[in-house]
Amino acid sequence: MTPTLLMDQPPNTASATPTPANASRAGARGVPLIFEQSTPGARAVDLPALDVPEAAEPAGLLADGPPALPEVGQLELVRHYTHIAARNFSVDANFYPLGSCTMKYNPRVNETAAAMPGFTAVHPLQDDQDAQGTLAMLYQLRTWLAQIAGLDEVCLQPCAGAHGEYAALKVIRAYFQDPQGGNAPQRRTVLAPDTAHGTNPASCAMCGANVVKVPSKDGLVDLEALRGLVNDETAALMITNPNTAGLFDGTITQIADILHEAGALLYLDGANMNAIAGVSRPGDFGVDVMHFNTHKTFSTPHGCGGPGAGPIAVRSFLSPYLPVPQVVCETDAAGGSRYRWENSRPKSIGKVRGFTGQFGVLLRCWAYIAACGPEGLRDISHTAVLSANYLAAKLRDQYETPYFDPQNKRFCAHEFITVPKRLLAKGVTLVDIAKRLIDHGIHPPTMHWPVHDCFMIEPTETESLAVLDRFVEVMLKIADEIAADPEALKAAPRNAPVSRLDEVGAARNPVLKYEG
Ligand SMILES: *Cc1c(COP(=O)(O)O)cnc(C)c1O
Repeated sequence: MTPTLLMDQPPNTASATPTPANASRAGARGVPLIFEQSTPGARAVDLPALDVPEAAEPAGLLADGPPALPEVGQLELVRHYTHIAARNFSVDANFYPLGSCTMKYNPRVNETAAAMPGFTAVHPLQDDQDAQGTLAMLYQLRTWLAQIAGLDEVCLQPCAGAHGEYAALKVIRAYFQDPQGGNAPQRRTVLAPDTAHGTNPASCAMCGANVVKVPSKDGLVDLEALRGLVNDETAALMITNPNTAGLFDGTITQIADILHEAGALLYLDGANMNAIAGVSRPGDFGVDVMHFNTHKTFSTPHGCGGPGAGPIAVRSFLSPYLPVPQVVCETDAAGGSRYRWENSRPKSIGKVRGFTGQFGVLLRCWAYIAACGPEGLRDISHTAVLSANYLAAKLRDQYETPYFDPQNKRFCAHEFITVPKRLLAKGVTLVDIAKRLIDHGIHPPTMHWPVHDCFMIEPTETESLAVLDRFVEVMLKIADEIAADPEALKAAPRNAPVSRLDEVGAARNPVLKYEG
């Protein structure tokens, strides 16, 4: 796969608005469906002759006929999937500045670590003494993450950021319900800023908490409004810091005080830890409980909902409620370390995931932190922040940055928002600009969130200055194109395998099965 895959392709001559019928045919751009390549009798593998006696199928279990599967040779099969795979848009092939998602490069060494037979062959029910290396890794990871968080204990079990939110909210609930704990069962309200990621209110709803929105002022939490909303029914505030507008909220310790004085807790959505890891610790700025998105901050190729891991970190007063089992370390008679799974935690919320969580993802996270070390992690955060500020500064003459204003010392963290009002006033939409970026082999940034008509741009720390400069060049070129002829953008993307899709048609009349 070449990095300029999309640009190498000839202009698209297919119809710009496919009907549901031709939209179902990958064949419009030269990759026929596998069903269309079927040749009766062709096989991808030859099975050896039976070496056991043939048995009759039980009556009544036989289908009416063979399934309508495509019949192709092995080479056709391999080529088919290779062609399709080459159409994937990925971080490995292209720049992917998708704000909030942290689509960064994942070093190959982590894949090598995750593929080591000692790890891949271990069984989750193996005796502890036969899996000491695996347990040592998990134990070390949980202590490292606690250090990075500045909190007391980490549970590795949740398997996504959203899942971490869910587990942590359950822990908070268990704490307030416990007469020996928070002893305030009426605390069922969770506050969330209006810039919160959709998973925050969704997780609250899943846990039966009432969600109350906290308004923002200049992109940050409105402290006065927050004071007015906190009361003796408040369990916690879920805050993302730096937030989804790309701003680090410098009033975070005041926010923590407001919550704590009212007997409530401060929850940090740690999706944006790649801006502060190794620089500041959430525990130091007042956070009581948080989740990590290891696939964003550390490593693991992710997209389309997975895979990931969402470890949660808590202060010690919340430890009794964490999910079990927990990996623990003991010193044996000879003074060596022994690791084992610990299940006895009577107040635990129980399991939120089978076995140990997403082991392979946790291993990649361990490998990434081990390779970087404390200094490396700090470098990552500095670079992520520098890259975003660089792009914002280079683009803001053409793409307005409402929250970024270096003259007044308003900088961004690892991502920033642009609301390109002047360009949109010329008759193009945000989608037109996004589609034009695809022509240049660049994945469009996150759109229309957290504010309408915005791009949220996150370059990440892994892109070189040359790539950032090329992105600026493309964005400025698009601005020039809009100035010259806004209508021309309506035909974008011209170089992609398919042009504008009928998105409404795809939602209303989806074609979900092959009709030959
Ligand atoms: C990605 C993200 C989440 C959800 O995390 P998943 O790992 O995708 O479940 C939550 N909050 C913010 C701010 C995010 O960017």
